[in-house]
Order: sequence, then C-alpha cells, then structure tokens
Amino acid sequence: MITVGTASAEPGEVATGRLEVGEGRDGGTVGLPVAVVNGARDGDRLYLQAASDGDEVNGVGVVSRVLPRLDPTDLAGSVVVVGVVNYHGFLVGEHRNPIDDTKLNRAYPGDHQGTSSERIAAATYALASDADLVVDLHQGSTSRMIEEVRVRCGRRHRLHRECLKLARTFGCGYILDQKGPDGQLARVAPDDGIPTIDPELGGSVGFDDDSIAKGVAGVFNVLRGYGFLEGAVEMEEQTRATGFDQYGAPAGGIVDFRVDLGDRVSRGDPLFTVTDVFGATKARVTADSPGVFWRSRRLPQVASGEYVCSVGTDLDTC
Ligand SMILES: [Zn+2]
Repeated sequence: MITVGTASAEPGEVATGRLEVGEGRDGGTVGLPVAVVNGARDGDRLYLQAASDGDEVNGVGVVSRVLPRLDPTDLAGSVVVVGVVNYHGFLVGEHRNPIDDTKLNRAYPGDHQGTSSERIAAATYALASDADLVVDLHQGSTSRMIEEVRVRCGRRHRLHRECLKLARTFGCGYILDQKGPDGQLARVAPDDGIPTIDPELGGSVGFDDDSIAKGVAGVFNVLRGYGFLEGAVEMEEQTRATGFDQYGAPAGGIVDFRVDLGDRVSRGDPLFTVTDVFGATKARVTADSPGVFWRSRRLPQVASGEYVCSVGTDLDTC
C-alpha cells in the first residue's frame, strides 16, 4: 500500500486525495491535489508535479490527460503526482505564491515550519525524496517559448549524466543544460541522488494544446524508457544549449520580432526592432552569438531595459 496524504492505493489501484500543507486564511485545511498510481508489479517510483508556478497550467493539462490513460494493472512501480503545487497562486492565476509573494521554485528543499512556500516545498520535497525519478512540469510562464527540457544540476554534478538521460528520454527536441538557481527542485533533488528534470512546455496564457501534447508524450516516454510501462522509446537527437543570452530593449516602444521561435540565428542577425507607436524605428537589436531563438515576451510594448527575448547558445546535439 502506498499512502500520500489522504490517497492510499494497493498494488493495481489508483487513488486520489489531498496532501495537507497547512491552513489557509479562512482557517481551513489547505490540501494539494495528489494521485497515487500503484502498479500491479514492483518497480521504481516516478514523482510528477505541476504548477509550482501558479500560472503555468500546461503541466496541469498534462497531468489531467495522463492520469486517465494510466492503467495500474499495466504498470511496474508507482507514479505519485501532485497536480497543483502552488495552490494559492493557481487559484488566482498568478506565478508566485500570493501568501508570501515568493516564487515557489526557489524554496526547495523547503521547511515544514517556514513560510507558506517553504511548507509547500517541504511537503512536496518529501515526495520527491521518496522517488527514483522526478519530473517537475513547468513552462515559460505566459511568455512565448519553445518546448524544451531543463537540466539544472550543472554539468559537473555527479548526477548530470542521469539527469541528461532523463531529459533526452522525455524528448521535447531541445534541452537547456545549465545550472539553475538555488532553491529549484531540479537543482536540489540531484544533490540527494534523484535524477530530476524540469520540462518547460512552451509558454501560454491558459492551455496550449500542442505544448500539452508534447508533455503527455514526454511523460509516457519516461514511463516506457524506465520500465514502468512496456514498449520501447525512440530516442531522437536533441538540440542542447548550454548558454542562454537574454536581450533587453535599448529603447521604449513597440517590439517587432524579425525571427520566429525555434529559428537558428547567426551572430549579427536581426532579432527585433523597437519603434515608436507611429512605426518610426528607434532601435535595432542583433544576435551577439549564434543560437536558437528560444523565448520572447508576449506583449509588444516595452520600456527601455525591459526583457524582450532569449537565445539558446553554445549548441550541440545529444
Ligand atoms: Zn516555472
């Protein structure tokens, strides 16, 4: 029997319930939605979570599409899922946890007696620590972004090879292999010996069905690739970036992009112009380094110095 919060599943069963993470402002219990899929046969455990950034709902779309297709009688091992991590942010469609104005994916491994975000991080980190593999579903917030998978432990980490293998198995086509900031789940869990990836499923306001489909395929690739389900995974060559250049606006006004997401750019290629509201050009920005046009702001209006776009650089294939 596997019990997570109020969800208990015998081998061959699925159970859903709530994982208590404290109390809300109304004095009632706050519980994250959890699911346990306990396979009929022994095996490893996958921990899957979504919406640790509360506006990143594509991961919730993945979870809601994967769970109905997971038959525990076909499964070896178990899958433990938290469907919404940043509970308070998700309720109001915000990126950060509004209770403490914190980005939850900087609070790992968390603290059971700490702030709201630290408590949620601690409760979910306990599930991650019990797993053999961790998949933390994200997206480029509400910006526009390609689908990619992040490896955040750093290339010198003892688990780097395993994290990279997990990213290749998930298989979005692109990997960003760059050490992440302190407090990220995908940075912290490898220190405890657990291969972890952070798939970034595009960027959207609300659901993006194409990004969700890539996430669903990625989860099933992991389940097959690591022996939870029968069947082979066709490993496809991934484009890996180990550098990530961010571009800001040299002038305020309206951004006009000269490249599309996923385009290859060379040094000196035009990335975007900034015009005034009457269309007169104020600035032209070109690529500093060759790479892939990775992410861009959604709204066209920018202030001087404000974020505009990112290019994944130092490319190879893996
Ligand atoms: Zn995120």
